[in-house]
Amino acid sequence: MRRGAKVLWAIVGLWLLATAAAAATDASMNLLRSVAVTDPHGTIAKVRRQLDDHDASLPPAQERALLWGMGTAAINANDDVALTESLLRLDNLANASADPVAAATAGFLRARHNIANGLGDSDGGGVSEALLAADKVLGHGDRQILVWARFQLCDAFALDEKADKALPACRQAESDYAALGDMYGVADALNDQGIALMSLERFRDAAIAFQRARARFRQAGAEELATMVGDNLAQVYLRMGRPADALPLSRASLKDELRAGRVSDSLFSSADIARAEAALGHPQEAYARIRQTVARARAAGIGGQLTDLLKSESELAEQAGQLKQALADVREILAFEHATDTPHLREMEAELEQRYAAREKELQIGQLERSNRLKDLQLKSAQIEARATQQQQRLVNLIVMLVVGALLAISLLLFQLWRGQRRHAAELLAQTLRDPLTGIDNRRAFQERALAMLDTCEVAAAHPHALLLIDIDNFKQINDSLGHPQGDLVLLTIAGFLSRHIDAACHLARIGGEEFAVLCQAYGHDAAMRLAEVLRQGVAGLALEGELRGLRVTISIGVAQFDGVRCHDLSSWMRAADGALYSAKSGGRDRVIAAAA
Ligand code: GH3
Ligand code: MG
Ligand code: MG
Repeated sequence: MRRGAKVLWAIVGLWLLATAAAAATDASMNLLRSVAVTDPHGTIAKVRRQLDDHDASLPPAQERALLWGMGTAAINANDDVALTESLLRLDNLANASADPVAAATAGFLRARHNIANGLGDSDGGGVSEALLAADKVLGHGDRQILVWARFQLCDAFALDEKADKALPACRQAESDYAALGDMYGVADALNDQGIALMSLERFRDAAIAFQRARARFRQAGAEELATMVGDNLAQVYLRMGRPADALPLSRASLKDELRAGRVSDSLFSSADIARAEAALGHPQEAYARIRQTVARARAAGIGGQLTDLLKSESELAEQAGQLKQALADVREILAFEHATDTPHLREMEAELEQRYAAREKELQIGQLERSNRLKDLQLKSAQIEARATQQQQRLVNLIVMLVVGALLAISLLLFQLWRGQRRHAAELLAQTLRDPLTGIDNRRAFQERALAMLDTCEVAAAHPHALLLIDIDNFKQINDSLGHPQGDLVLLTIAGFLSRHIDAACHLARIGGEEFAVLCQAYGHDAAMRLAEVLRQGVAGLALEGELRGLRVTISIGVAQFDGVRCHDLSSWMRAADGALYSAKSGGRDRVIAAAA
């Protein structure tokens, strides 16, 4: 059967049942042709009621016309029960009244049913059944019956894809109907011509035939039939690569078919919509739709149509990348078409499996390539990330190094500052304790040292501390006669001499203008007196140089012991030494006097 093409089982669209006078006229064969298409279920119900109501009282011609209408409606609605019922009644009628038209009617219905269900001539039920039926009435005297029978042949040929036979038969039917002024008939015949032209792949001509058929149906006021032919036109458009033109036609057709309950036609329209969707670049949508359509066909038990739908499903599954389903569909089709030819089937299957295996491999390779590409990309992005992390790390290291360097520099600077300050402070401290002219301890250093010495309080009677107060004799005169700078030089010279000649246990300090003190720890009276004498004689014997050449400088020394009886009393010790010094001065100078014990 031609894939999805709709042959319009229309008989003249006038519901004349109410007219009892509508007896055995040839026009009665066309009695229900419109409603059998537009409302098949309603038609079946109405005919049943009519037959029940009138039972044996109906004239045979009218009864067979009603049964023809019921049969065509049953085929349109895939109602096997109603079809069998009409066939049985027609067989009875043919036998009872020896009516060849009734026999032909049954024959045409069987032919149509068999073709629609894929039962070919090998089963003795396709075009050959139609030819036998036609043979029964081709000699019929009634022109209307003759035209009707000729059209049935055209229809059977077209439906069974016998285009070479269909085309002349359908052209004949077209002109026959035109001569009768039957626009429905003309449209029917044109539709069948379109179907035949399509199977010859003459799509341009087929499109013209369908367009003309639509125009004729519209002319006859059968809008719904024009819509139905629209789906045939849609199939041509699909084959011509015009899916956008096809889609609205198939949709309109489907709407009518669903409303009328024309299951079979609606399945074809759905398949056409799916194909158009796929062609418009929606393979997944198309695949979902065709799967649903095949499921509906299985549920409705429409075997003849299943092959065509499975072909569509296979194609659309392949386009949607569902190769397993595509293979399963082709296998099922082969099982239908070559059920008796198992070696051929196996061969076909093997070839198909090879094809799909190759295709699957291609897909796998593609997938592998894609995953390799993905891995490559992942690797690259990981490398970039690692590089960025490295750079960040380097930056962090640099910052850390800079900070550490800066801290080190600051620490060094602070340390230098601190050391400088400490040195400065030490110098300041030293300066406060040193005599700037001679470089020896000054008065404050002397006092601190003396207090510290007395602070211990551990002075043994045998080893008292000794203090020597030294004053340069007549120093004013040196200043006056030689000048202050020479006086300084004298001070410097004597300081140097004293510091070189005191004992290790003693400390020298300059405590006044030309006054010096020598502090000796744990130094007995004799030792002190000896030391004082050494110093006095040494100074007196100094041979001065330069402008001081020939000058004799002497010193007077007062010596006082500190025995530890009284601690912390530096002033009394000083006073004692001073008193002794005073005695030395008043005693004539250049001498050593010890303070009274
Ligand atoms: P005497 O023997 O009684 O101690 O007599 P003198 O002249 O040494 O004593 P006097 O106290 O009358 O004079 C001390 C002088 O020392 C007065 C002062 O100008 C001088 N003099 C004090 N300090 C310095 C100094 O640093 N350098 C110099 N060149 N002279 C100083
Ligand atoms: Mg003095
Ligand atoms: Mg003096």
